[in-house]
Amino acid sequence: MVEVKAKVINLKMYIDGEWKDAENQETRPVINPANSEVIATAPEGTVEDARAAIYAARKAFENGVWSGLSAQERASYLLKVADKIDEYAEELTELETLDNGKPLREAGGDIADAAACFRYYAGLITKPDGQTYHVADPMQAMVVREPIGVCGLIVPWNYPLLMSVWKIAPALAAGNTIVFKPSEVTPITPKKLFEIFEEVGLPKGAANMVMGAGPVVGNEIASHPEVDMVSFTGGTKTGKHIMKAAADTMKKVSLELGGKSPNIIFADADFETAVDYALFGIYCGTGQVCSAGSRILVEESIYDQFVARFVERAKQIKVGPGNDPATEMGPLVSAQHLEKVLHYIELGKQEGATVACGGNRIKSNNLENGFFVEPTVFIDVKQDMRIVQEEIFGPVVVIQKFKDEAEAVKLANGTVYGLAGAVFSNDGAKALRVIKKLRAGITWINSYHPTYNEAPWGGYKQSGIGRSLGTFGLEEFQEIKQININLQVEPVGWFEN
Ligand code: NAD
Repeated sequence: MVEVKAKVINLKMYIDGEWKDAENQETRPVINPANSEVIATAPEGTVEDARAAIYAARKAFENGVWSGLSAQERASYLLKVADKIDEYAEELTELETLDNGKPLREAGGDIADAAACFRYYAGLITKPDGQTYHVADPMQAMVVREPIGVCGLIVPWNYPLLMSVWKIAPALAAGNTIVFKPSEVTPITPKKLFEIFEEVGLPKGAANMVMGAGPVVGNEIASHPEVDMVSFTGGTKTGKHIMKAAADTMKKVSLELGGKSPNIIFADADFETAVDYALFGIYCGTGQVCSAGSRILVEESIYDQFVARFVERAKQIKVGPGNDPATEMGPLVSAQHLEKVLHYIELGKQEGATVACGGNRIKSNNLENGFFVEPTVFIDVKQDMRIVQEEIFGPVVVIQKFKDEAEAVKLANGTVYGLAGAVFSNDGAKALRVIKKLRAGITWINSYHPTYNEAPWGGYKQSGIGRSLGTFGLEEFQEIKQININLQVEPVGWFEN
């Protein structure tokens, strides 16, 4: 049973510039993952609510209140939003920790990144982006970029504000109007962002937010004919639903999906650096990071030494509530997700893998009401085990052994995913050789996790389609039009009479 406290945040949806409850008045509780208390209630949006938001976005797109502004004018709104995010950073950080469970230092980083992302796209949209071509006289050919129209944006719970901003900032910068759906698990900071949109006076209907279940509200966004594009971040299975739902209306689909990313450690790597980044790669975000280094591949000659040191350090990670400054790793996001992660740990044992450390829910130190799991390491794994092949999305890592470069690459590429990957080695040529063979969109050498607004983010294979961030992330939200101009206005003369 969840405990309801007096101070519960009452969330609303934002449709056509108005704050709304669900049309049927239904709500759903939002839970603090550190203690299971109800912290908010969110409208349980319906198909009708989704349609109202879609029509508002369509109307706003057609009447040009947003798409008709100059890039400079749109940029000035985005810059004001960034300033407001900075102004409210402390509150946003606390709310992110409350809702998602992540430690304050992680949440604080996300909020700062969200502001920076708005600034990046405010700058980028005012830069030159067309092309002209030298075609035969008397024609002049050129290419212009235009907004796509109404963009449906659907996001997960692991970075509630930041994943929202990675889509909202470029979509708005490009002149689209949006229908946004946060995860039903973490709607609090996205709602604050829409309060900021209202505060800076974003034109009515330009940005709309509906809350509710994915198969209801999300599916309506993905399938509705008045939505021109759907940009989705979430699980690969859901991504496949989205593609199918979008197919009938042939809308553009952009997908940022799951991963099972390899972190390859060669014997010539700086040992302590490699161990340190490997810990960061999997346990940062409690393993609930799409690009998490959840498969560590270690060269045979240092394997035992690596496992021993990694386990020694994993056991020392301070697990606790995100709002305790001493906490290094927070809880999992929900009771449902806790079940999923514990299920995978059981599965790993049944498959014959050995638990080198962790493997349990934490119920001591007043953590019994939260969704805490020990940092967990599996060894003695085989490539075809489900714990090696499937995304667990928790603090669970497998450590595998490889003989040589070729085997490292084979194991690294041996899943359906292709999101991220890293190589640790002091041989620069070898590191780059291996990175170039990885079938993955985001890679690091002697590092793990840093992400930049300037650089494209996205996956190969079943980790997605398209890219977020950078110029690529803006282009996702733009149509490309060729314009051919006749500079000698006279008949073509193709037909004699
Ligand atoms: P999820 O797929 O369950 O849900 C994501 C969003 O989709 C939520 O808003 C949900 O309500 C909605 N949804 C669910 N079913 C839907 C349907 N049938 N139609 C339309 N919308 C639907 O994912 P999650 O559990 O919230 O997040 C974890 C997943 O997100 C992991 O797989 C992770 O790897 C992935 N992720 C990927 C990236 C990336 O950049 N590649 C980033 C963050 C998270």
